[in-house]
Amino acid sequence: MTTPASISATGGPHRDRAHHDPAHRDSARRDTTAPGPVLAAQSVHRFFRAGGQETLALQGVSLRLEPGELVVVVGPSGSGKSTLIACLAGLDEPDGGSVHVAGHQLTHRSEPERARLRARHIGVLLQSANLIEHLTVSQNVALVQHLGGDAPRADPAGLLAALGMSPRAGAYPAELSGGETARAGLAVALANDPPVLLADEPTGELDSTTEAQVLELLARITARGVAVLVASHSPAVAAAADRRITLADGRVSS
Ligand code: ADP
Repeated sequence: MTTPASISATGGPHRDRAHHDPAHRDSARRDTTAPGPVLAAQSVHRFFRAGGQETLALQGVSLRLEPGELVVVVGPSGSGKSTLIACLAGLDEPDGGSVHVAGHQLTHRSEPERARLRARHIGVLLQSANLIEHLTVSQNVALVQHLGGDAPRADPAGLLAALGMSPRAGAYPAELSGGETARAGLAVALANDPPVLLADEPTGELDSTTEAQVLELLARITARGVAVLVASHSPAVAAAADRRITLADGRVSS
């Protein structure tokens, strides 16, 4: 179990847990401590056909994410950022290329298999869509943990406390402010203690103070060894990132 201090401790819970708890020795988490990228995309292609028109949303995107990196994906609207996040998360299946997470192939698998791998290895933070409206914040976290099966789990109370959300644990999504929604979304994304966090415009609707708080949380998450990839238009997010990937017309341009 991850402790409440896990978000604020640097280099903490993963190593501690592997060290103190033999039950975790064979857990999926161990893959992330192996050298090499925790997420790798190779020549990912995605096409859409709508109204007789074909859109080449991704045209051979390759990238690697190392543990502990905060990487921002930038590019104009329509350049393929959301499609890329969806393909990397296994929410969408590319038409070509491959994605591996924590040493497991995510692409060319059935949707239930992708969902299982996602639950174990990938936290996904969408602008508003990872909270279920009729469940409270703590019930949302519990649901994701249930779906994760035997995935490693964060301690729910500790996770909410570390994100400053304990007083709002019983609130429904519609009752949360923008910053609280972002933090609740992070709690859900981190519920199964994933080695990879993918976020699509996580600060898009936040004021600059709240955005700075979310960036501070992301920095603490990367300090624990989690690899974070964020698609964002925000200069503040770009400034906080270790590395920037620029998309243009579905290709990495720099
Ligand atoms: P971004 O996130 O950078 O704004 P997207 O990944 O949303 O870009 O979109 C990339 C391109 O793919 C755009 O031209 C968009 O219209 C198109 N696209 C995305 N999703 C679909 C879809 N489900 N059906 C048809 N076209 C799509």
